[in-house]
Amino acid sequence: MSIFEQGLPRAAVNHIALSPLSFIERTASVYPERTAIIHGSLRRTWKETYQRCRRLASALAARGIGRGDTVAVMLPNTPQMIEAHFGVPMIGAVLNTLNVRLDAEAIAFMLQHGEAKVLITDREFHDVIHAALGMLDHPPLVVDVDDPEYGEGQAVSPLDYEALLAEGDPEFAWQWPQDEWDAISLNYTSGTTGNPKGVVYHHRGAYLNALGNQMTWSMGQHPVYLWTLPMFHCNGWCYPWTVTALAGTHVCLRRVDPQKILTLIREHQVSHLCGAPIVLNALINMPESAKASIDHPVHAMVAGAAPPAKVIGAVEEMGIKVTHVYGLTEVYGPVTVCAWHEEWNELTLDERARIKSRQGVRYPTLEGVMVADPKTLEPVPRDGLTIGEIFMRGNTVMKGYLKNPTATEESFAGGWFHTGDLAVWHPDGYVEIRDRLKDIIISGGENISTIEVEGVLYRHPAVLEAAVVARADERWGETPCAFITLKGEHAAVEAQEIMNFCREHLAGFKVPRTVVFTELPKTSTGKIQKFVLRDWANAL
Ligand code: AMP
Repeated sequence: MSIFEQGLPRAAVNHIALSPLSFIERTASVYPERTAIIHGSLRRTWKETYQRCRRLASALAARGIGRGDTVAVMLPNTPQMIEAHFGVPMIGAVLNTLNVRLDAEAIAFMLQHGEAKVLITDREFHDVIHAALGMLDHPPLVVDVDDPEYGEGQAVSPLDYEALLAEGDPEFAWQWPQDEWDAISLNYTSGTTGNPKGVVYHHRGAYLNALGNQMTWSMGQHPVYLWTLPMFHCNGWCYPWTVTALAGTHVCLRRVDPQKILTLIREHQVSHLCGAPIVLNALINMPESAKASIDHPVHAMVAGAAPPAKVIGAVEEMGIKVTHVYGLTEVYGPVTVCAWHEEWNELTLDERARIKSRQGVRYPTLEGVMVADPKTLEPVPRDGLTIGEIFMRGNTVMKGYLKNPTATEESFAGGWFHTGDLAVWHPDGYVEIRDRLKDIIISGGENISTIEVEGVLYRHPAVLEAAVVARADERWGETPCAFITLKGEHAAVEAQEIMNFCREHLAGFKVPRTVVFTELPKTSTGKIQKFVLRDWANAL
């Protein structure tokens, strides 16, 4: 009889549902007195944090919340947001982190669609939440968070968060997920076309991606992690769980403010932070004196949009080591990384930055990535030239879209998750994004990668930010239209100079035919809203 046929038991002793909730119990018992959370003048240990999470879980349970119920939160990166990442799933409930920049209508849609039973909300969002609740037939139980770091605003509910915690039991024996396939969270996509889709994560995927982050970034024990990435976005790329597993310190931050970020990095010897390229861009555009204050190793993980090589280079020059990753809401945040090879250290800063701007290869915790034909799923040649769509499969792909079987089926067609991102595949297996499927420009039958044109624009010394979109054109079908924010001291630069610069570095048909100087519209996660720019371009 083979080993497989021996009938060895698969039982509670050797097979337990994977869940990131196990991390906090271990950290609180091994390092009870280490600092878990820093928020303004507030400090909390892991013992206190774990007790507060259990209080939250038990107080919610006492109010009838349980397995499969949705608890929504409208919170910036505050201690309550970290507590919610443990306290809510501890009772089998599902955490729905709302995007704090959304308007009342979108919030009302999500509360209704996700069937939230409870909403925990910060006073800063009083007006939006008040309006959203007014649109609902069955509003959830609302819990008011009065954060001393904000210190303003009006309560939306008489039920105070601290009072709710006081009702709870700090020793509450929380329930392990019955099944690792149980939902842990619900994250709505930005919904640039139509209603947003509710992406459902499970405990197993959250556990795996939390570990994948650590393996990919080699974070070591006790990282000091600054919350520059909104935790409402893909559960902060699973970092609430990763940093907790490593008995690190969460340094909270209500909003992205480059001066404050530099101050906190210095003050708390921050070792790690994540963010979209615009966060890094804001840092590199700070005065030299402010930037010079970084004198210890700092690591930045960047994703959310393609970081121009110029930005990567400038950040590294500041002494911040960049790790470039890529992912989507549907895959728990980052799942590919531009994995580094030692021999690349010998290259010049520019060359290193160019290599690092590739989106790379899969995390060890994702089972497959390929670039293939969007229709046939036939892999494209690894020639660094042929454009295809990026597909993924593995244990960190979402459960699916809530109450949307058609969209789920479409995005899983052929046994692969369709990302909607277009890329080339290099001979070394590294993926490099060229565009979103819907953003690529087709001019006279030729593809133009907007990311390539933007990469050139960022090299111009006067350019602070740039985005390129298609503009309808009678002769060519589409032509590139560039929207640019200039650095303050270069306000006099003219469109012609930008076009001349592009002509020196790009094939003629890729040079923007139109250049507009303006502020760029962005989403709360730092993505430039290209659909808005396309409207602007076509209204010119
Ligand atoms: P979201 O679901 O809001 O996180 O958006 C995911 C999208 O952001 C992806 O489909 C990409 O288009 C884009 N994105 C994320 N990371 C990167 C990256 N490193 N480089 C280029 N685009 C990225």
